[in-house]
Amino acid sequence: MKKREFKSESKRLLDLMINSIYTNKDIFLRELISNASDAMDKLYYRSLTDDKIKINKDELEINVFYDKDMRTITISDNGCGMTEGELESNLGTIAKSGSLAFKQMEEVKDKDIDIIGQFGVGFYSAFMVSDEITVISKSIDSNEAYKWNSTGLDGYTLEKCDKNTTGTDIILHIKDDTEDEKYSDYLNEYKLRDLIKKYSDYIHYPIKMEVETEHLKDKKNKDDEDEYETIKEIETINSMIPIWKRNKNEVTDEDYEHYYTDTYYDYEKPLKVITTSVEGNISYKSLLFIPSHVPYDFYTKDYEKGLSLYSNGVMIMEKCSDLVPDYYSFVKGVVDTEDISLNISREMLQKTKAVSIISKNIEAKITKELKDMIENDRDNYKKFFKVFGNNLKFGIYNNYGMNKDTLQDLIMFNSSKTKDLITLAEYVKNMKEEQKEIYYACGETIDKIDLLPQVEQFKDKDYEVLYLTDYVDEFALNILGQYDGKKFKNVSNADTNLEDNKELDKLNEENKELLTFIKDSINISDVKFTNKLKSHSVCLTNKGNVSVEMEKVINAMPGDENINAELILEINENHPIADKIKDLYENDQDKLKEYSKVLYAQARLIEGLPIENPTEISNLICDFLAK
Ligand code: ADP
Repeated sequence: MKKREFKSESKRLLDLMINSIYTNKDIFLRELISNASDAMDKLYYRSLTDDKIKINKDELEINVFYDKDMRTITISDNGCGMTEGELESNLGTIAKSGSLAFKQMEEVKDKDIDIIGQFGVGFYSAFMVSDEITVISKSIDSNEAYKWNSTGLDGYTLEKCDKNTTGTDIILHIKDDTEDEKYSDYLNEYKLRDLIKKYSDYIHYPIKMEVETEHLKDKKNKDDEDEYETIKEIETINSMIPIWKRNKNEVTDEDYEHYYTDTYYDYEKPLKVITTSVEGNISYKSLLFIPSHVPYDFYTKDYEKGLSLYSNGVMIMEKCSDLVPDYYSFVKGVVDTEDISLNISREMLQKTKAVSIISKNIEAKITKELKDMIENDRDNYKKFFKVFGNNLKFGIYNNYGMNKDTLQDLIMFNSSKTKDLITLAEYVKNMKEEQKEIYYACGETIDKIDLLPQVEQFKDKDYEVLYLTDYVDEFALNILGQYDGKKFKNVSNADTNLEDNKELDKLNEENKELLTFIKDSINISDVKFTNKLKSHSVCLTNKGNVSVEMEKVINAMPGDENINAELILEINENHPIADKIKDLYENDQDKLKEYSKVLYAQARLIEGLPIENPTEISNLICDFLAK
């Protein structure tokens, strides 16, 4: 019979499977069982809409057989089956989920990450353990059965065969043992039972297997000794109850983690698992997960937030976005309620009272769990916040601050004192008695902010300053406006000064002409002497609401909007440079012009702002150095 070729992408995946870059070969069984379960789902749904298809739902089942001598494992289902054309197209090409897994696998191949077995790699994974696979299938839409057979990369054959019932048998011929791998282990009841329990326990059709059990023999006489015999019988291995419906004390952390990594194709276990069971006007169970890292598509438009919605164990919507607010869009999981009917439409669902009540409860539950983590599981919370903190900060900023009350206690910033994350409540608790405002400083990194001249006076007074390093930070604080009655104040704002200003005002008044001269030499809103600097000579501050950091962010966004912070050059009144410029103003105004340009450039550099005329400035500096 003529061999048919695999499609090229399939060939590559197959190649990877045969040469097993996956170290976790165990997952092949899970993949085949999931396919079988899907096929029975499909048959069931068809029967709901097609009168010609009559099925008894209770008879849908998966059977697993093994034969040590023949070295075969057979996975058999009575689902929808495949026609000749489907066998050709489904098993000759990587299906959608398979190709996604393939892409991810190629991406992480060189990295030292244990991704094994977490992705749905589908049917081909069976080639990790088999050197020949036979698929015998009869579709619900056909009277003929077909046999597909392949020994690997060289292609496959497809021919008519006999099969009485609809459904699919997958027969794996297990590879011979090698020095490194003992494939024979799979031809063993305990191993197979283990794998079914571990990976496929919540498959909602029975997975049956013949198992050997020890039975107490009937006694002829009452006083006879106990005698056992080994009996082979078919047993349902999986519990079938979805993990969220199982009794909580029967489910281990590991079970939840497995469920998560399997369901969401994540290679890392979740950072947090949240379970709820609510009985009342609206009853539901939910199982929620916070991932340990940003999902790979989180920042793309393909990412869909939402939880899977089940009505009494049957999924009615895979991603119900109404169940979680945008700022918790990273939360994954399921909600199962009896209070929503099975055949509700998507449009109706949004208007359903049950959904809105459940979503409110879920939001409150997530918030509470996060707050608990801040108190009791700090390291984990910090880990969480580093990954998803920006989502919360955007949540404060979005919708004109509508959700700020919910979120303000969940955000954190780095403290100038500990260089570690603290909450706003903790900042307020640490405030000095006379301190009225919450001070913050912005910059690219904690280290850079820590060196800002504007921060100096606060350190000097032992005040804590929040260091804001993400561009959304200041926007979020602006929307908050205040926390616990205390206003937020940027240390770079011109009016932020801890010192007494009377003397300073006098000094500025006396030197008005000099300062105007400097201002006219550079392009800036104002120039002043200041007493807020300790060791530094100059700094930039701003008037009004737009800070230097905000200017950078807004101007970096696409669009025509171009805004400028109203900048003030502040010169340290106690620095020798102050006397120098006073002297130059009297004796050499041309030189003062040059000095003004260099001082301003210096202040811009400290802020991380670009200099308009770098060549001129560097030439000036060189001239000064040469003298
Ligand atoms: P995936 O399951 O991710 O779509 P697979 O490679 O595992 O990819 O399977 C490819 C396709 O083959 C499936 O989408 C399904 O249409 C079909 N298929 C696989 N196993 C069965 C089965 N037991 N019964 C019916 N169809 C199946």
